[in-house]
Amino acid sequence: MKRQIIDKIKQYDTIILHRHVRPDPDAYGSQIGLAELIRANYPEKIVFTVGEHDDSLSFMAFPQQIDDAQFENALIIVTDTANTERIDDERYVKGDCIIKIDHHPNDDAYGDLLWVDTNASSCSEMIYELYEEGKIYAGWNMSDAAARLLFAGIVGDTGRFLFPSATSKTFEAAGQLVQYNIDRNALFDGMYEMERKLLNLQGYIYQHFVMDECGMAYIKLPTAILNQFDATPSETSLLVGSLGNVKNIRAWVMFIEENDTIRVRLRSKGPIINELAKKYKGGGHPLASGATAYSWEEADYVIEDLKAICKEYK
Ligand code: AMP
Repeated sequence: MKRQIIDKIKQYDTIILHRHVRPDPDAYGSQIGLAELIRANYPEKIVFTVGEHDDSLSFMAFPQQIDDAQFENALIIVTDTANTERIDDERYVKGDCIIKIDHHPNDDAYGDLLWVDTNASSCSEMIYELYEEGKIYAGWNMSDAAARLLFAGIVGDTGRFLFPSATSKTFEAAGQLVQYNIDRNALFDGMYEMERKLLNLQGYIYQHFVMDECGMAYIKLPTAILNQFDATPSETSLLVGSLGNVKNIRAWVMFIEENDTIRVRLRSKGPIINELAKKYKGGGHPLASGATAYSWEEADYVIEDLKAICKEYK
């Protein structure tokens, strides 16, 4: 499969890379990291990265604005995106050939060519693997820019190598990538430095989360609370993992009110939670998933379901 993807990259003059909405470091890392890899090895090709920019990722890179006409005869590569509804920039359908590269469960097998590896810690790790194949098969070289983005994507999706998804392969990839000219301190600052208001909100979370005897915990962040801390829904991304530090916690859910909906962000240290996410029209990984609730009453149903999962796990 990796060789078929490399053949397609060789074949097309214009390549457009997409990733998922509400991007995170692995979305940018895999999408723009692969773009940089292609640019470094095929400077004659026209390579674009699309999707709405998220300000919190400005330390990584910026996507581009392009016209519809660019999609004609283009190769489309979508990274880190499980289902078509979550592809940022729906013009991907206008391309000539679509490749899906992802590490989420393959519930929506879209694309003309698919490479899905749920054992990969991150999609950026898969792009590193593609590079390794490219090195042997097509003489690819890594660039500093690509290495920096891929490293950030791996760090982001493994929670700084803490999650069980980080395997020896992950560490090997990271070990190779840090040999390039990367300012790791600047990257880590960009990823983990928090404004004081967010640290205050983190304090609120630690003071107000609710946990039961099975290790199921939740915290609700309605608009009034977000306003109190002058925080936007997207800024809470850095706080989702915070409850993981609580002793005896097994799984947790953070509810964040956003416009007329409630974003449901689920995390776990063992119990499988992505089936629950699917029940609420979401999805994701077995230990990190998301969904949407349409009322606080529905949020309470999510809590009950998660409680049942943790009880059974215990
Ligand atoms: P998040 O809490 O947004 O960081 O998401 C954790 C994981 O769940 C990511 O890998 C997402 O791909 C997945 N995910 C989050 N929200 C949704 C959703 N509404 N539908 C499908 N997958 C989702």
